[in-house]
Amino acid sequence: MIHRTRSLMRDVLVRTLAVGIVVTIVLSAAAYLTTYTRRTRETLSVLRQLVSERVERETAIFSLARDNLNVFRDAFLRLYLDDRVSVSDADFDRLYIRGDDGAVRMRRKFFDGVYDTSGHFRYGVSSFIGNNQPVDDADFRRRLVLSYRLLSQLGPGFQTRFANTHVSFPENAITLFWPDVPWGLQARADLPMNELGVIAATLQDRNPEREPVWTGLYFDDTADEWMITYEVPVDHDGRHLINPSHDVPLTDLMTRLRSGRARAGYAFLMREDGYLVARPTPPSEDQKWVGQLSFDEIGDPAIVRSYEAIRSALNDHPAALENDGTIVVDNAEDDAYLTVGRLEGPDWWFVDVYPKSEIRAAAHRAALERLGESVILLVVLMLVFFVLVRRRAARPLAQLRTAAEYLGEARFAEVAHGDVPLPRDLDNEIGLTARRFYEMSARILDANREMERVVEERTRELLTANEALRELSILDGLTGIHNRRAFDRDLSALVREAVAGTGSFGLIMIDLDQFKLFNDSHGHQEGDEALVRVSTRVAEVIRREDRVYRYGGEELAVLCPDTDLTATTATAERIVRQVSTLEVPFPESVHGVVTVSAGAAAWTGELSTPGEIVKSADTRLYAAKQAGRNRVGG
Ligand code: GH3
Ligand code: MG
Ligand code: MG
Repeated sequence: MIHRTRSLMRDVLVRTLAVGIVVTIVLSAAAYLTTYTRRTRETLSVLRQLVSERVERETAIFSLARDNLNVFRDAFLRLYLDDRVSVSDADFDRLYIRGDDGAVRMRRKFFDGVYDTSGHFRYGVSSFIGNNQPVDDADFRRRLVLSYRLLSQLGPGFQTRFANTHVSFPENAITLFWPDVPWGLQARADLPMNELGVIAATLQDRNPEREPVWTGLYFDDTADEWMITYEVPVDHDGRHLINPSHDVPLTDLMTRLRSGRARAGYAFLMREDGYLVARPTPPSEDQKWVGQLSFDEIGDPAIVRSYEAIRSALNDHPAALENDGTIVVDNAEDDAYLTVGRLEGPDWWFVDVYPKSEIRAAAHRAALERLGESVILLVVLMLVFFVLVRRRAARPLAQLRTAAEYLGEARFAEVAHGDVPLPRDLDNEIGLTARRFYEMSARILDANREMERVVEERTRELLTANEALRELSILDGLTGIHNRRAFDRDLSALVREAVAGTGSFGLIMIDLDQFKLFNDSHGHQEGDEALVRVSTRVAEVIRREDRVYRYGGEELAVLCPDTDLTATTATAERIVRQVSTLEVPFPESVHGVVTVSAGAAAWTGELSTPGEIVKSADTRLYAAKQAGRNRVGG
């Protein structure tokens, strides 16, 4: 079976990276979700608070308008009804003059500024009476003059929060304290104010309840502004006298309503009956405001849908706006939150449109930030991991592997001697394993050496035994001298040497005399003993370099290296003599003792094979027998 090996480091790193990526993704997704949820909650809460604050402030301004104008009304009525206050034609003429266009206007100096009889500086007042109006009526003149006096006195005090303070008259006339705009001097001569919405809404036939009026939005051509006007009709004895009024420019209103809010989105004003009051144009610009009145003219489906969403939310919770002043409506179709507040007074809705994409963008940013942080963390961790694993595991493991390979190749010594680096000093499992490895190698090395020693010893013993065995195989069992096999081997060797020219040798053939008779007379056992004694004696009397062999039966042979025929013959004679001196009793023989006969031969050029040499010695042995035994044959 083949094991596919993979890098431990790569394996660990890849798995860690995979886990890290999953965790990073999960964390980022969690960051997205939590941020989205939290952002939505926070944004809506902030929006509600902002809208609520703005609406409250605006409502306060509307009620301030009411209070101001009530003050004005009371002051006016006090003057108007006071008999002591007289207004002469001269008074009127000092203020007004009919122009060439037929309209009667206040003289310009009352706008530019004059000192009155009490020494007060009066300014900012203009007045206009349409050219269709006579100004002969004393009461009308009285109201005009008193209105001027009050406006020039009270106007500057009211000025802080409103565009202007003015008084309109049912007779198509108006007097304004408005230092920024000389309105009365600019108005078209034939301007029919009392036929338009502004004054018309205060007339008795149009407003029988005599309630204060919010005019609704209109475009003031003269001031070049979208404007709403708050008018308090003042009657006396069933007669409509004047309408003290404040103008609120739409731009101011919207700027106030939008101030301090988040940049995203836009806002618009709407009447509860679905008529749009004002919107930015285009909706993303919030500085320039236009007024519109009907949806048909708007041509803006998003605003129509917003209105429907608000209506249906209010149908579900009719009291929502009454309770805390604001309601948040989800306009899913346009992917926006609508925060709605009601402006008391004109009964308008202030609608703040906040795109949900802003919240998502924040969530995206948070998720990206988290992703970025996590990726950096991951990279750092992976690097640390990489370095640690490499230093603490991968490299030591590689060393262990190399050591294991050495062990596999039985190179224990290199491991045990420290030639192969092993992380033995690591204080962890790998270090422990390395130390075990090292100890194991050392032990195996010891065991191996012991084994080698034993094998060597056994081999030596075996060699000795073999040698003994070999010796045994070439010795004769009875006599202990070399046997016939040894003789054949040694003779061949001597012949080979002699033929090679490195030496010469002699051969003696020996035969016990009348040994059949000895056996017959003394028995075979004694025959054996005699044979042993003769063999031993022969071995004793030859030279050290000579060797005696049992040739067969009672015949012996002696090989004499480096010996010529003469010396060999001399050796043969010594042998014969020495055997007889053994004096092994043999009374039946002629000599009375055991004797031998011998024949000698030596290697010559002619006698060049073992057989020829043996035959030559044998011939001489035979000759010795013939000559009477106990001698060397000649
Ligand atoms: P010669 O002097 O002519 O050699 O007479 P011989 O009797 O020795 O001659 P022969 O060859 O007829 O007889 C040899 C005898 O040697 C026959 C055998 O009984 C005896 N012999 C041969 N080998 C042994 C042996 O190992 N032990 C004993 N006891 N006798 C042996
Ligand atoms: Mg014989
Ligand atoms: Mg014999």
